[in-house]
Amino acid sequence: MARYTGPVCRICRRHGQKLMLKGDRCMGKCTLDRRNVPPGQQLSRRRRISDRGLQLKEKQKARFTYGVLERQFRKTFAEAGRLPGATGENMVQLLERRLDNVVYRLGFGDSRAQARQLVRHGHIMLNGRRAGIPSLSVKPGDVITWREASTKTVPYKELAESPPSGPLPGWLSLDVGNLSAKVLSQPAKEDMELSFDATTVVEYYSR
Ligand code: SF4
Repeated sequence: MARYTGPVCRICRRHGQKLMLKGDRCMGKCTLDRRNVPPGQQLSRRRRISDRGLQLKEKQKARFTYGVLERQFRKTFAEAGRLPGATGENMVQLLERRLDNVVYRLGFGDSRAQARQLVRHGHIMLNGRRAGIPSLSVKPGDVITWREASTKTVPYKELAESPPSGPLPGWLSLDVGNLSAKVLSQPAKEDMELSFDATTVVEYYSR
């Protein structure tokens, strides 16, 4: 299955929730503020959603939030189940540790989609080596920097002029001067602002 390339605001409208998929635009002119109705033909009577349907909705929300395809999401869930501790928490931790998510959390990209593109285009280095795979998992001690040649590109210059000033999760540290970052620890529960219920996602896959 190919990556979803359609209008992302439709996904928010489908779930009736801001999933912040468009970066800056989400802070300003959010489509959901103007049109908070599901996409498609409007039915006069809403159907009741089954428990299974609700579980599926939460799973889709989680998947779209992190921009992960079904097969990879399922693999992440399976890996989370093999780790000690609560599967839901492990799953979110694995998703948070994805390199594209870390680049987004550092404020290098407005959205996870943009952060993913920075990674795929080879602008980001992990421990001094070019890292072009968005799903790479970071661990405590890892250092994230920009590739030397990428410091001449527009995204880097824009960031250097106006460095990220948003709140940084406690498990990451950022050197604003040279836009390099370090992973301090595993993501903690309080660092995860979730737009979905991880327990319901676990229920979906546990059937
Ligand atoms: Fe679109 Fe962002 Fe609003 Fe979602 S939160 S509807 S992606 S503008």
